Amino acid sequence: MAISDVMTTSFYQGVLRQFDTAAELLGLDQELRVILRTPKRELTVNFPVRMDDGSVRMFQGYRVQHNVNCGPAKGGIRYSPEASLDEVRALAMLMTWKCAVLGIPYGGAKGGVNVDRRELSKAELERLTRRYATEISVLIGPDLDIPAPDVNTDAQIMAWIMDTLSMHSGHNVPAVVTGKPVVIGGSEGRVEATGRGVFIVAREVAKHLSLPFVGANVVIQGFGNVGSVTARLMHDAGCKIIALSDIYGAIYNPNGIDVNLALQYVKEHGKLLGLPGSQEITNAQLLETPCDILIPAATEGQLTHANADRIQTKLIVEAANGPTTPEADVIFQKRGIPVVPDILANAGGVTVSYFEWVQGRENFFWSEKRVNEQLEEMMQTSIGHVLHEADTKAIPLRMAAYAVAIQRVALATEMRGIYP
Ligand code: GLU
Repeated sequence: MAISDVMTTSFYQGVLRQFDTAAELLGLDQELRVILRTPKRELTVNFPVRMDDGSVRMFQGYRVQHNVNCGPAKGGIRYSPEASLDEVRALAMLMTWKCAVLGIPYGGAKGGVNVDRRELSKAELERLTRRYATEISVLIGPDLDIPAPDVNTDAQIMAWIMDTLSMHSGHNVPAVVTGKPVVIGGSEGRVEATGRGVFIVAREVAKHLSLPFVGANVVIQGFGNVGSVTARLMHDAGCKIIALSDIYGAIYNPNGIDVNLALQYVKEHGKLLGLPGSQEITNAQLLETPCDILIPAATEGQLTHANADRIQTKLIVEAANGPTTPEADVIFQKRGIPVVPDILANAGGVTVSYFEWVQGRENFFWSEKRVNEQLEEMMQTSIGHVLHEADTKAIPLRMAAYAVAIQRVALATEMRGIYP
């Protein structure tokens, strides 16, 4: 492949390539390959929102359902200036495999709105959310497609979506979204779930590879909901967090960052830069900092052919969706750096989303202890399956996770048959 091809590989093309490689490895039937790599439904919506100054602004949003053979579609909604149909397609496909790796009875979906959330007031954010929810309401529902938070969306936004759909129905429909506030049917432990899952995966895979965990030097890119919880749990477990970043910049402290102080500092100052005892570094320096465990917890396309040779770590754990390009994957494989793929590493979020959906449908709510125990058990089981697949077939962890996932969805597809 020419360098120009490498550089223009889109996120979606990259995700398709990962699927094709795994399908080839499994010797998957050609017709099944075509079915499984094709998105089932794609919706683009253009809609107006009244801004606070009285003007009207148009926005574009998306909802893609990749596959629903194992159950209703499931996946988050992100608000981002980079959101596009192609990005949402890639993320929807990743959700199909993520749910399948965990054995959760869902298909995969994703949504997005092309917007910079920081430009909107709270009232504008609410109007945008309610209108977007209305536009995609033709696709979503407790048995159809269940959104959740993702990049730049949160429990408040899920509450507005739930309320909007409930108003349309004339009664409460809590199971239409997950990641809601606890007071309206959310689950204990959901906010922390993705970071907790990343922590469990990092700990278990380090153990499996005989890498030190307590005392390990850890670098985390991203200090949002996922990165900050991961950082805190790893810090509390005795890891040394030597570098962190958020959207404003990156910080480094070779003696270890006190994550609880960093959380307090961000609460007061809105960013990590300036944390006493730390020095400012660039995002590129952060990723290339020598460490034992590197955790990209920001966004896709961070580890590429351009920097993969300079990454100095013993283990990469993908807390973000799609942070490693296929080209970088090949380089890490050659260099013997294991990469725990997103579809396993960050699956804690959708796992507790599943618990929330189950609790909502039964109207019986679990304690945080029970949620965390059940999460731990499901993650352990899936990690065990993936490690076993990797060891017995001598394949990288990403291929092992894809193999577990694709075999499940392929079997469901075969058992159901082609309608009519
Ligand atoms: N947005 C999260 C993810 O990418 C969670 C999705 C969900 O809970 O449905 O896995």
